[in-house]
Amino acid sequence: MAGIYIHIPFCKTKCIYCDFYSITDFEQQKELVDSLILEIKQRNDYLKEQVNTIYFGGGTPSTLSVSEIDAILRAFFKTFQIEKDTEITLEANPDDLTLDYLKKLRNVGINRLSMGVQSFDDAQLKAINRRHSAQAALNSIEMAHRAGFSNISIDLIYGLPGQSLESWKEQVDKAISLDVQHISAYGLIYEENTPLWRDMKAGRVIPTDDETMIDMYNYLVATCRKNGFEQYEIANFAKNGYRSRHNSSYWKQQPYLGIGPAAHSYDGDSRQWNISSIRKYCKNIANNEPYFEKEILSEQDKYNDFVMVSLRTMDGINLAALKRDFNEKYLEHCINSAKKYLENNKLHIKEDFLRLSPDGVMLSDRIIVDLMKVGN
Ligand code: SF4
Repeated sequence: MAGIYIHIPFCKTKCIYCDFYSITDFEQQKELVDSLILEIKQRNDYLKEQVNTIYFGGGTPSTLSVSEIDAILRAFFKTFQIEKDTEITLEANPDDLTLDYLKKLRNVGINRLSMGVQSFDDAQLKAINRRHSAQAALNSIEMAHRAGFSNISIDLIYGLPGQSLESWKEQVDKAISLDVQHISAYGLIYEENTPLWRDMKAGRVIPTDDETMIDMYNYLVATCRKNGFEQYEIANFAKNGYRSRHNSSYWKQQPYLGIGPAAHSYDGDSRQWNISSIRKYCKNIANNEPYFEKEILSEQDKYNDFVMVSLRTMDGINLAALKRDFNEKYLEHCINSAKKYLENNKLHIKEDFLRLSPDGVMLSDRIIVDLMKVGN
């Protein structure tokens, strides 16, 4: 199976912790949609497998009109083999959603929503310059149900400026009380050169201390588990049968096609990425000029990818697959590098899978780097 990712690099406003995206320019967005459809046709031979997930990500894909989304989906259905019950996700900003828009999204085939809620607290939303209110977030989830959506995911952020442990607990409890099938929760990152990073540097914002971040994470994990959400990846929790198929396909290293500026594609042996400039992307696609760069993956690249995506999942690293698919020196390197973490219970091996322990999750980035292989 394979997945398709469509990148919509526009947002109506900029959040202070993010520095990637362009403010929505609807003229340019129309031109972008035309270019996306051209790219879809040009990439008709990239995927060899049937497609079972399509994901509109960004930026804020909910700035697209239903007819633009419909045009893009029709181009996919004309160009690729799309499996009957394909998961088709739209990332949405609560502020963009109306009952009419949601009903029409369902009619054109969107069957999963990933909502950028982030918090149910207005002061916290304001502090990060999110344009929606807590009430708008609640209304959008309620409207999505009325429009017939039964597969809804919400994003939350912990460690927001001014967010105490108690306040975070209220966010999690609120999320659990809503009829959603999936929760993605991330610790706030101070990305360099973002307004938030500058506020921190200037002492205007004090980052949440590590201990409180750990307490927030532990509350999230325990509360989700207690309420029937399975943790299947460090930041992802799903009701039974509602794991994100699209993200899971990344973690299983299934091929995927990336469409749009800055979108990445992967076919198992190579990775390629489109240019990020929206203007250049549209111009080069229209003029049939190069618009992406490509790298052929070495066995070491593939091993490092395998370690990085597998260890973040609760399944962990499949040691039998590592032995089967890679030169034995990689299994050896993996086990040798894992030794010290096995001894201090940050990693454990169960049924031939090498997994992070609950304590190990806090050190996941460092452990992943240690298990990856650099040099000969
Ligand atoms: S909505 Fe998302 S992509 Fe857009 S600025 Fe905010 S965080 Fe960045």
